[in-house]
This record gives sequence, structure tokens and C-alpha cells, in this order.
Amino acid sequence: MHTKYIFVTGGVTSSLGKGIISASTAKLLQARGLRVTIQKFDPYINVDPGTLNPYEHGECYVTEDGAETDLDLGHYERFLNVYTSRANNVTTGKIYESVIKKEREGVYLGKTVQVIPHITDEIKRRMMLLGKTGHYDVVITEIGGTVGDIESLPFVEAVRQMQWELPDEDCAVIHLTLIPFLSAAKELKTKPTQHSVRMLQQNGLQPDVIVCRTEHHLSLEIRRKVALFCNIKPNEVIESIDAKSIYQVPLAMVEEKLDEIIIQKLQLKAAAEPDLREWTQFLDKLFNPKHEVHIALVGKYVELQDAYKSILESLIHGGAANECKVNVHCVHSEHITPENVTEKLGGMNGILVAPGFGERGIEGKITAVQYAREQAIPFFGICLGMQMAVVEFARHVLGHPEAMTTEINRNTPCPVIDLMEDQKRLTIKGGTMRLGAYKCMLDKHSLAHKIYARTEISERHRHRYEMNSDYLPALQQHGMVATGRNPETGLVEIVEIPAHPFFIGVQFHPELKSTVENPHPLFVSFVKAAMEQWLTVKK
Ligand code: GLN
Repeated sequence: MHTKYIFVTGGVTSSLGKGIISASTAKLLQARGLRVTIQKFDPYINVDPGTLNPYEHGECYVTEDGAETDLDLGHYERFLNVYTSRANNVTTGKIYESVIKKEREGVYLGKTVQVIPHITDEIKRRMMLLGKTGHYDVVITEIGGTVGDIESLPFVEAVRQMQWELPDEDCAVIHLTLIPFLSAAKELKTKPTQHSVRMLQQNGLQPDVIVCRTEHHLSLEIRRKVALFCNIKPNEVIESIDAKSIYQVPLAMVEEKLDEIIIQKLQLKAAAEPDLREWTQFLDKLFNPKHEVHIALVGKYVELQDAYKSILESLIHGGAANECKVNVHCVHSEHITPENVTEKLGGMNGILVAPGFGERGIEGKITAVQYAREQAIPFFGICLGMQMAVVEFARHVLGHPEAMTTEINRNTPCPVIDLMEDQKRLTIKGGTMRLGAYKCMLDKHSLAHKIYARTEISERHRHRYEMNSDYLPALQQHGMVATGRNPETGLVEIVEIPAHPFFIGVQFHPELKSTVENPHPLFVSFVKAAMEQWLTVKK
């Protein structure tokens, strides 16, 4: 079977959950035995989101091959349980970068280089790149932004051309919109949807399915109205009602027969029913927990949930695996001081110190680590969180009050965390961190080894600084040990305090590899340790 294409566009407002609808569609096709991948095309001009502040578009997700990408790729991996890659996220910046490079190379043979056809051709080429590998029956392309934005026009035009070029049964367009409920009128309103579809049609694109985000069920009458004015059949108007969890959306889409409509339109040879046994088992555990814990997520971007998306999702996976409800308390690291730390973190069964960059909130993170260490509360430090665990230990156990990472204080007399050798010469910021998957060897008798139940692991990275191994002997002597190392470079990737009930810091990002069907062992064990802490406190 050759590759078929599904495009997902969005109208009315942003944040409707295009990523979740794309991932759910993909999940249902995968559950019917098809090979599916999803890619995201973002209309912004940054070459990738690596240089973006998390306040802009949330966390930056890193793929196995070291690409810094949009956080929706995280949803794709968590839903599908398969890796994405550099090719799965394309931005306007990337498109222009390659067109301009070709122009300089003289590839266009004296032609005037224009948005149409050169930019749109490059977009189409990228849209079909994964399809051409022969690895997929279906490639789903999510178009970022909202229809009508000036910057998404070339993408919509490229989809229009694809819809025109491909046979009918090889291309489907799903448009996601909002049906708002006006409480004063007690009515659902279809006009914004009609307008956004009309905008799409003005651009020459006809949706095959319209998915309507709504807070209330859509009556047949509403569906008919949307269908009539948007030129599709009533059964192709799909309701996507607010769900308790994003992981319910695939099941809601089965109810609405989204998978059947797509299979019919694309004439796909698929199993008669989706096999969602594992998925529903996960949901059963998620919604019927037998235990409950409170975990503090200490970070500086806590106002914005999307900034720690993968960590929050991994805690959900880790909780479900333990049949445990995880109440996450986001604690702003800037607001933690030695005076108020007991009040802020006192009732917690686990403390997770988040990744990050820069000085803001750093002392609060160090105080949080100290509290977890001294109060024997399960501690999990990720990337900057691990680095601060080393700083804290050096300050309060080794007795170096000036210990710091050189990221914050270049001239510290005690640089326990320092810039990696190959980072020292770099001047360009974009795409130059230590990125992507690296191997790590675990010590036989460590907590990490017990958690992973193996000696060799591979995890994804995104950092410039590392633990300074000059301090390792002193740290080890006083009870902080390095239990995971990169086999080629010897870089320390994991630290632990064996005398503590559960204290682990990792230089990599385990949250990037946790999926519904494969919850990450570190998160599963951390939640378990929090459950044990809860029991001891209760006694
Ligand atoms: N800022 C730190 C570094 O670059 C940690 C990065 C992170 O937490 N992702 O090493």
C-alpha cells in the first residue's frame, strides 16, 4: 500500500488541541494495524524552537536524533509509542533556510525565487519526505497556527495543491474548530466555525471532516447546520467534547466514528475494529486509583503548564502504573526561601526539581534539594535539577558555600558544574547543545540499576553544562555517588545518595521517553517511593 496523507488544520482560536486530535487519529489508525506517523509544520520563522523561551510555545521537545522540536511531538510519541525524528517538525524558518541555500548554490538557474512556487514546492517536498521512505501507510501533517493567519498561508496553499494533485482516496483534510457556548443565550454558536471553514474554502481547501471542540453535546440540528454551510455530510461533523484527560480523546473519537470516516475516505485496508485494550487498561487505572500522593514540581515556569508538559504527562503515566493518583503541586522556585521551605514543601511525598536555564529561581531550587535531602523526602532532579543537587551537596555537606555552576557564576572558586569542553568554543546558540540520545552505563549496585533493571540505557539530553569530575572523589567520599556514566566520554549522567530513601538526579531528560504504553521506570519508581513515604508519615 502506498502512503496516504491526512492534513489537520485549525480555525477560530489556537489551543483547541490540534496536537491531541492528530495524535488520537493516528492512534486509532495504528490500533487498526496501520503504520502511521505524525509531523508538525509550524509557521513561525525560528529555524527550530530550541532558542525559544518556554513562555512562548511551552517546552522544547527533543527527539532521539537530537532535534529541538515543538511539544506536540511529545504527544505524538506518548500516544503512538514510536519515535519521531528531525524530519517530523518543520518551520517556516527551515523552509526559507533551504530555499535561500539553494538560491545561493544557483539551483534555481536564474529564476526569480518566489513564495509560489518555490516556497510552496519546498513545503510540499517536506510534507512528502516521510511518506517517501515507504515506512508508513499514513502520514498525518498538523499545520500549526490558525487558518487566516498571514504566516500560515503558504502552508494552506501547499495543502491545497496536494489535495488537487493526489487522487481523492490519498488525501484527507480534518479541520478543527470551536463551537462556543454563549451562557447568556444558553446556546451553542456555529458562526465562528462557518467563518473559519469559509476562510479555508476561500483558500481553495475543502475539509473532509470538521471536528468541533465544544463544552456541550452537539445536537443533530447543530451538526446539520455546520454540515450544510460547510459543504460536508452531517456524519462528517464530529464532536470533541471537553474530556477529563487527553487520553480519553481517542475513545471519544471512536464513538464519533472518526476512524471509520477516514478509513473510508482513504480506502485504507485496516482491521475492522481498533485494538485499544492496553489503552483502556491504562485509562481504567488512571481513573480508579487506589492510592494518592502529593508531589511538588519545583520550577520557574510553573505559571505555564505547557512548560513542563512531558514531566506532567510522565507523572500521569507513572501514577497510573502504580494505580496512584498523583497530585502535582507546582511550586515556583523563585518563591522558596530557607524560611518558608517547610511551609511550601512540608506536606509533600516527593520533590521533583525541574530542568531549566539561567539564574532566576536557582537558589530556591537549591533550598528545595536541601529540604528533600535532610527530610528524607523522595527526590528526583532532572538536568538543572540534578546539577543543583550537586551544588547543594557541595555547599552543605562538603562545606563549600560558594559552590555553583559556571552557568550562573563564571568565576566561582568551586565550579562543581562546568561547561563541557566541546561547548567552550561555541558562539552560535541554535542547535548546539548536547542534544539527543546518548548511552549510559549503570553501576551494578545502584538505585538506577534497580529501577531500570539493566546495565546499559539510552536517554535524551539537552544541556551545555556537566558535572565537574574533579569534585567526584570528595562527593563520593561524603555520600553522593555517580552511578551512571557515558561509556565514551565518562561524563557523569546520574548521581545518587545511597543513605537517602530515594535521591536521584539525572543529567538527561527521562520525561521525553515516557509513553502511555511504556511509562518511564524512573517516574514509576519515583511515584512508588512517594507512596512509601506517604505510608511512613502516616505511621
Ligand atoms: N542549563 C543547564 C545546562 O545547560 C541545564 C539544562 C536543562 O535543564 N535542560 O546544562
